[in-house]
Amino acid sequence: MLLSLIAYIGFLNFAHANQSFSDEVLIHGNHAQHREYTEEDAELVPVAPSLQGQRVVIPKMNSRLVAAGKEAARIATAQAYQKLKNELVLKVFAAIPGTPVVWPQAGYDYKACGSNTLAFVIRGLKKIHICRGVMDLGVSSAWMGQLIIHEMAHIIGLFDECNATVIEVVSMMYSSYGLQFKNGYYSRCIGS
Ligand SMILES: [Zn+2]
Repeated sequence: MLLSLIAYIGFLNFAHANQSFSDEVLIHGNHAQHREYTEEDAELVPVAPSLQGQRVVIPKMNSRLVAAGKEAARIATAQAYQKLKNELVLKVFAAIPGTPVVWPQAGYDYKACGSNTLAFVIRGLKKIHICRGVMDLGVSSAWMGQLIIHEMAHIIGLFDECNATVIEVVSMMYSSYGLQFKNGYYSRCIGS
């Protein structure tokens, strides 16, 4: 089923190029919100300290996690491309090194980051914004890699959430990492 979906994506890619899209990946629930992000969404706003006590955020650890996530994304898409020979997976692989992945400084979050938003990109801006919540979750590099692959699919022009989700899921499933989590679009786009 996934392979027929991925063949379908290549066909849909251009047809959907002008539609608005959402870059939200939800942790909970399947009620994905659709919206277009603007540069204002990337403004930093202060966040209240956690009620569970002050969390010590070490900037070096954050940059290490993002670098490890980018590396996992690179490895996963390389392995998936070897098996599938899909051009969109190859495009994601090729986009990873040159696409900056940024995150908010300690005590701040991007305006667009709600409790369900993990990351977003702004159309026309080749940059991935990771929300504060993800940096504080303590995720693995493979988990971060999967998130980066999804956002990277938007960067290469897959604006439809289902198209981005299929690339994300296929890349992980055909890699040695396996699927790390089901995003908020999973059941609608892939099935249960
Ligand atoms: Zn998305």
